[in-house]
Amino acid sequence: MEHSVYHSLKQECEQKKVTLVAVSKTKPAAAIQELYELGQRDFGENYVQELVQKQQELPAAIHWHFIGHLQSNKVKMIAPFVHLIHAVDSFKLLQEIAKQATKNERTIDVLLQLHVADEETKFGMDENELMHCLEQYSAQRKELEQVRIRGLMGMASFTEDMVQVRAELHRIRNAFVQMKQTFFTGREYFDTCSMGMSGDYQAAIEEGSTMVRIGSMLFGSRR
Ligand SMILES: *Cc1c(COP(=O)(O)O)cnc(C)c1O
Repeated sequence: MEHSVYHSLKQECEQKKVTLVAVSKTKPAAAIQELYELGQRDFGENYVQELVQKQQELPAAIHWHFIGHLQSNKVKMIAPFVHLIHAVDSFKLLQEIAKQATKNERTIDVLLQLHVADEETKFGMDENELMHCLEQYSAQRKELEQVRIRGLMGMASFTEDMVQVRAELHRIRNAFVQMKQTFFTGREYFDTCSMGMSGDYQAAIEEGSTMVRIGSMLFGSRR
């Protein structure tokens, strides 16, 4: 890994008050350790087994972000330690996370995932589903106390067309603002708009991202 790439990215994120999540999926523990020693603490993984394995091997001070699609039956495997779950895409999953948080006597922070890309394969809810999920959440807030919704996560389409990418990032930011106004006014903890990857993080920051998830730019391409 090129340390200068990490240092300049880190500096850029610090200047703009954006949290940098280093996406280490498929990369060995040694690569994570190397970045950890440079001061990086937030790492993102998208497979449950791989995350559990790495969590056991690596320093306890790491903040593990689960950024992949999460199945309800796997929540219990990461519930004891996960720092932030990025891609909650149903009310049922939210309920399961609350249940596992209670079992582990902790609060689990999550983001809801908005689907904006034009690719079929990307998970997440559209704006209507998102609002519906939040209405259900609002009606049962008390029972769901141990899951804390910190904000929204989204991914733009994988395309060179930056006009389209910008429009999608803008849509994510708009939904975040609307969510805050409708369901989280006055709640300081609702502060996270997770968008931006290696190919579009600068545009994402300009569009109002507060957390970027960067993999290949730091660790090289994956196969
Ligand atoms: C893999 C992945 C990333 C990082 O992508 P890069 O293009 O390698 O920076 C970010 N977010 C999610 C959800 C991912 O799955």
